[in-house]
Amino acid sequence: MGVIKKFTLIVDPDKIFGKVRGLVLLQLDPTSIDEAVSKLNSMKEVRETYMTTGAHSLVLKVETRDPDELGQLVSKKLSEVKWITGYSSLVITKTAKEEYGATVDSYMMVQFKCEFCHTPIVGKPYVEYIDGGRYYFNSERCAKAYKHMKVHKGEEVSEKPEMHKFP
Ligand SMILES: [Zn+2]
Repeated sequence: MGVIKKFTLIVDPDKIFGKVRGLVLLQLDPTSIDEAVSKLNSMKEVRETYMTTGAHSLVLKVETRDPDELGQLVSKKLSEVKWITGYSSLVITKTAKEEYGATVDSYMMVQFKCEFCHTPIVGKPYVEYIDGGRYYFNSERCAKAYKHMKVHKGEEVSEKPEMHKFP
């Protein structure tokens, strides 16, 4: 019961002339994630909001009329959300696959791995916020070790998207 939240007509967004879609990866002040999410969800351009692990705590799927409006969204509207500490944005050029069917129980089977020791997390993860990102660990010990490692090794730049900081 209550699984179907909304029934909508599905159109192929790539075929709608004059639409630009993008992904915005956000770093947030961890104490204000709920406020930030409700503020972001109220923006008409924001179509989907995901809380994520790793260097970013939120990923938004956004849709605007043109690239200028997408730029404005990021540089003006998002920069006014005070809990956002950094962002990275991408423009979607083509949707290769998109599923509308509900995989209702998939989220229950998500298996997190400890960011430090990479072993599967059993039970409740130990969550730590580092530089605006959200990381999952087996224990506080792993979290401490990870932070220690990060400080001493510096940032691993290879796989990270370029980050921008709001002034
Ligand atoms: Zn661990």
